[in-house]
Amino acid sequence: MTCEGLRVVVVGGGVGGLAAGLLLTRNGAAVTIVDWRDDAAQGAGLLLQPNGLVVLRALSLEGPLERAGHRLDFTSLRGADGRPVSRLQMPDFGAGLDHVCASAAAACWTP
Ligand SMILES: Cc1cc2nc3c(=O)[nH]c(=O)nc-3n(C[C@H](O)[C@H](O)[C@H](O)COP(=O)(O)OP(=O)(O)OC[C@H]3O[C@@H](n4cnc5c(N)ncnc54)[C@H](O)[C@@H]3O)c2cc1C
Repeated sequence: MTCEGLRVVVVGGGVGGLAAGLLLTRNGAAVTIVDWRDDAAQGAGLLLQPNGLVVLRALSLEGPLERAGHRLDFTSLRGADGRPVSRLQMPDFGAGLDHVCASAAAACWTP
């Protein structure tokens, strides 16, 4: 299906709106994304699950994702005194980006 000649307004610049905008643009639509917020950077990390990674890979965003993110092998929870409370090994979902924890903002975030 082609969207050549279509002019589309996507309301909401979250991950859903951005993905829709990208897909529509690649299919030929002229897309405008609007959001009532003007502060896009929220400064949070984002843990990407295998289903989301499959979509990002299909959008050819594997390269930027690898550069911006970090593979997560385990998560560790610590108490106020810094002592470990739990440690959870991330399951191996196979080859690919399954362990990538990506967020450009996370790289600059300091608690
Ligand atoms: C604290 C927290 C942590 C999370 N952590 C993760 C995580 O680690 N990994 C993960 O995969 N998911 C995580 N999620 C879930 C994830 O954030 C959502 O699933 C995802 O953001 C949904 O994307 P969306 O584009 O549908 O909606 P949203 O991200 O909510 O985007 C909707 C956008 O539309 C805009 N908007 C709404 N109404 C209007 C309007 N009338 N006019 C203009 N703009 C409008 C909003 O400002 C917003 O920018 C987390 C959620 C929360 C709350």
